[in-house]
Amino acid sequence: MHSRFDHIDSWIFDLDLTLYGPEANIMAQVRDRIALYVERYFNISSDAAHHIRHTYWKKYGTTLGGLMAEHAVDPHGYLDFVHDVDMSLLKHAPDLRVQIEALPGRKLIFTNADAPYAHRVLAARGLDGVFEDIFDIHRMQHVPKPASVSYDRLCNELHIDPARALFVEDSAHNLGPAKALGMTTIWVNHDIAVDRADTAPFIDHEIADISGWLSSIHTIERTI
Ligand SMILES: [Mg+2]
Repeated sequence: MHSRFDHIDSWIFDLDLTLYGPEANIMAQVRDRIALYVERYFNISSDAAHHIRHTYWKKYGTTLGGLMAEHAVDPHGYLDFVHDVDMSLLKHAPDLRVQIEALPGRKLIFTNADAPYAHRVLAARGLDGVFEDIFDIHRMQHVPKPASVSYDRLCNELHIDPARALFVEDSAHNLGPAKALGMTTIWVNHDIAVDRADTAPFIDHEIADISGWLSSIHTIERTI
C-alpha cells in the first residue's frame, strides 16, 4: 500500500460505535441494562440506579469497575446481563468486510466490552472471522480504556509495535494513550461536540464513518 498508512502492519479497531453506527441503537440499550442491573442489585429505584451507574462510570471508567471494587460483583454475570440487547438493527456490511480484509496486516479488536458480546456484534455485522484477535475487558484485567496500562498490555500480549499500529475509535479520549505510544490514530466522529483544543494533539485523522474512510484508502492504493 503506497499511502500514508503504508508503514502500518497492525490495524486495531474499537468495537462499539466504530464498527457500526449510532443508528443501531445498541449503546442506549446497554446503558439501560446497566441501570437495571444496578436497580436489581441494590433494590433501588430506576433513577437512583442511573445515578449510581453514572457515578461509578465517572469514578472507575466503567460501572463494572465500581461494582467490582466496592461490591465484588462477578464481571462475567454482569457483562452477560448488560449485553443482552436487541441487535436487530445491526445489518450485515459486506463492503466493510471486504475493505477490512483487504488491509495489509493484522486486524484486531480492542474493546471495553467482553469477547462473547463482541462476537455477537461481529456476527450481526457479517464480520465474523475477519479479526485475528479480540482484546477485551477481561484481558485488560478490567481496567478499561483510556487507562494506559491496558494499551501496554495490548501491545505486549499481542506483540504489537505501536509505531506500526493504527487505532480507530469513536471515543476521542481513548486515542490519547495510543498516540502517546506512537500509534497512528483515527477518530470516528459521530457529530459529537468535543473540545478540539483538548483532543487535537492525539488525533491524526478525523473521519465520519469507517467504510467511507477505508474506501478512500483503497482508492488511493489503486490509483498509485
Ligand atoms: Mg466505541
